[in-house]
Amino acid sequence: MKAIQGDITALRTDAIVNAANRALLGGGGVDGAIHRAAGPELLEACRKLGGCETGDAKITPGFRLHAKWVIHAVGPVWSGGNKGEPDLLASCYRRSLELAVEHGARSIAFPCISTGVYGYPVEPAARIAIDTVARFADRVAAAPETIFCCFSQHDLTVYEQILRKNG
Ligand code: ADP
Repeated sequence: MKAIQGDITALRTDAIVNAANRALLGGGGVDGAIHRAAGPELLEACRKLGGCETGDAKITPGFRLHAKWVIHAVGPVWSGGNKGEPDLLASCYRRSLELAVEHGARSIAFPCISTGVYGYPVEPAARIAIDTVARFADRVAAAPETIFCCFSQHDLTVYEQILRKNG
C-alpha cells in the first residue's frame, strides 16, 4: 500500500477505481477524466449496468486505458458525518477490492473518493481508505497491491502522514 501524486488515468495498475455517481453515466472530476481517457465504449458499458447504490461498486473493462478494469465506486455525499458517511465510504473501498479479487486484478489504484465535489473532508476520508485496505489485506490472501493516487500535493501529504503513523 502506498500513496503517489498523479493522474489516475495514466496508471498501469490492473484496475483503477472511479469516483462515480449513482447513475454511472459520467460526470466531472476524476469520473470525467476516466471517461475521456477510456473512450466512448466506457459510457456504453456503464449504460448497461443500471446505476449503482451509494457504498457499492460495479466493474467494466478499461477500454483505451492501460488498466484492464475500471471499478466504478459510488461514495457518499458528505452531509456532516452523521448520515452514515464513514460506513458508506468504507463499503466503497471494500466492494472495489472484492471486485478486483473476483476479476483477478493484482493491482488497483484508488482516487480520493468523495473528497472532491462530494465534499468529504480529506483527512477522515484518507483514514477510512487506508484502514479499510489494511483490514482487507489482513484477511484476504489475494488482496491486490494498492496505490492511493492523490491528485493534489496536499492530499498526498495527508496520506503519507497517516501511512507513516500506521507503520
Ligand atoms: P467525488 O464526487 O467522489 O467527490 P471528484 O471527482 O469530485 O469525486 O473528486 C474525487 C477526487 O479525485 C478529488 O481528490 C479530485 O481532486 C481527484 N481527481 C480529479 N481528477 C483526477 C485524476 N485525473 N486522477 C486522480 N484523481 C483525480
